[in-house]
Amino acid sequence: MTDFLLTHEPITRLAVFLTVLVGMAIWEVWSPRRRVEVPRVLRWSNNLALVVVDTIVVRLLFPVAAVALALVLEGQGFGLFNLIALPIWIEILLCVVLFDFAIYVQHVVFHHVPVLWRLHRMHHADTEIDVTTGLRFHPLEIVLSMAFKLLLVLVLGPPAVAVLLFEVVLNASALFNHSNIRLPKSVDEVLRLIIVTPDMHRVHHSIDPRETNSNYGFNVPWWDRLLGTYIAQPKAGHDDMLIGIEMFRSRRDLWIDRMILQPLRRDKPKHKGRSD
Ligand SMILES: [Zn+2]
Ligand SMILES: [Zn+2]
Repeated sequence: MTDFLLTHEPITRLAVFLTVLVGMAIWEVWSPRRRVEVPRVLRWSNNLALVVVDTIVVRLLFPVAAVALALVLEGQGFGLFNLIALPIWIEILLCVVLFDFAIYVQHVVFHHVPVLWRLHRMHHADTEIDVTTGLRFHPLEIVLSMAFKLLLVLVLGPPAVAVLLFEVVLNASALFNHSNIRLPKSVDEVLRLIIVTPDMHRVHHSIDPRETNSNYGFNVPWWDRLLGTYIAQPKAGHDDMLIGIEMFRSRRDLWIDRMILQPLRRDKPKHKGRSD
């Protein structure tokens, strides 16, 4: 099974990505959680174009991907997990949970270090939240995340298949928990005991800073619950809450060129009379 996943890595990634993306998009049209105010074509074309830019930047800058690095380390017996002998399924589970915690910490850091927040706030500047918001990250944030992930792989020496599983699951859950889908409250309440649900992550995209700085988890909700960063529901309610960042609210700010330049914009109130 693990060999099968590794030898079919590109197709596994692509199949899961496209299935979840298309599945969520259909669900959003069929049963939306919030009313859609901004034309989908504007947000979707720009958010998806950003994915292309991000992919090209990572391919150009990194000679090795996280899974490939883990494979090299496995061969050389380097890293924590290559020094201990545990059943493979326990190692995989442990690695996935450890990686998830590391990503949680990274997310908190991106919110609290001003220069990093300038990069990450572009993810929050989307004025609506749907499946494509889960892909809307600044290329420099993607580069820093990739560097951090490679460092983690270097230290932990995880099984390569655990890295692949983590990346595939993280990608799928980001698409799921950003989507604008309606889930019955009872289903949401049970689901959010084990995974981050769209209603839980939407709180994180609120314009209210107290809510923006909560619900950092991407896969599991436990870190937020354990470390006191959990807010169950938005104060204004899911229908009335404002999504986004105060300073980026025009439709022009949703274009890819503006998104890429957003980190350079100073975080101060707009002057009166300025239209964008
Ligand atoms: Zn965030
Ligand atoms: Zn988000």
